[in-house]
Amino acid sequence: MIKDIQAKTLLARVKGKDDWFGQYYNFNLYRGCQHQCIYCDSRSECYQIENFNQDVLVKVNAVELLCKELAGKRVVGTIGTGSMNDPYMPLEAEKQLTRHALETIAEFQFPVHIITKSDLVLRDLGLLEKISQIYAAVTFTVTTADDALSKKLEPGAPVSSRRLAAMRRLSENGILTGLAMMPILPFIEDNEENISRIVRLAHENGAAYILPAFGVTLRDRQRVYFYDKLDRQFPGLRTRYEKAFGERYFAPAQNHDRLEKGFTRLCRQHGIATKMPIFSPQKRFHAANNQPALF
Ligand code: SF4
Repeated sequence: MIKDIQAKTLLARVKGKDDWFGQYYNFNLYRGCQHQCIYCDSRSECYQIENFNQDVLVKVNAVELLCKELAGKRVVGTIGTGSMNDPYMPLEAEKQLTRHALETIAEFQFPVHIITKSDLVLRDLGLLEKISQIYAAVTFTVTTADDALSKKLEPGAPVSSRRLAAMRRLSENGILTGLAMMPILPFIEDNEENISRIVRLAHENGAAYILPAFGVTLRDRQRVYFYDKLDRQFPGLRTRYEKAFGERYFAPAQNHDRLEKGFTRLCRQHGIATKMPIFSPQKRFHAANNQPALF
């Protein structure tokens, strides 16, 4: 069910230093996600998103809040979105919250980083070009090079080849773009063939970087849902997971070290970075007196 809600606040300060994506602030325009990836961590109890598997809540006043909150920020730092839900889930085509948020970000001249599995991001290419005069990066999550498998694992999202084609278009238009190759699921995606195909396709489609994670988290409700989907789609695999990982929080890929070494070597061969270029936060100057705001 899709429900409209009023949010109280929007932008959050990222705790600590974000070494992965360089994000200083983040926001979520939606709660819940139509992509319904079978491994999604946002189902975990700690995030307190009830009915993640059924509902999407739309923060109808989000852009108004963003405008108000950005006006008061004293540090210009990268605003990230896309880790708790996909800002380009199908609903966005109609609601356009992400588009309007990007318009606001462009107006305030803040940098942005988007994580997505959807080629709907191409709709906002013009806005991204504008923001990229400061800094704009788009990271596509791709966990498998096989479209049929991506449909099973990430049923509500465009298949991997569509994401790669979108990445290519952004890259051709000068937008910083690359892949988040995460999670790599044990016994399903943790093989050399998959990893080398992803790196090759990333290279062919203009990736500047690939950020890998060889394994998957398995927390409470996330694990329950994932195991249920394994039973339906990969008979017998739940038992292998239970035997190998028990109640552990993190399920590492098989041959983790070998995969990582091969991955790093291939990236080097193709000139792909394994860390993304990030924007360094800066004090904000107010046009009125050209003085930096005090911390
Ligand atoms: S796109 Fe991201 S947030 Fe949405 S279901 Fe998939 S993993 Fe979760």
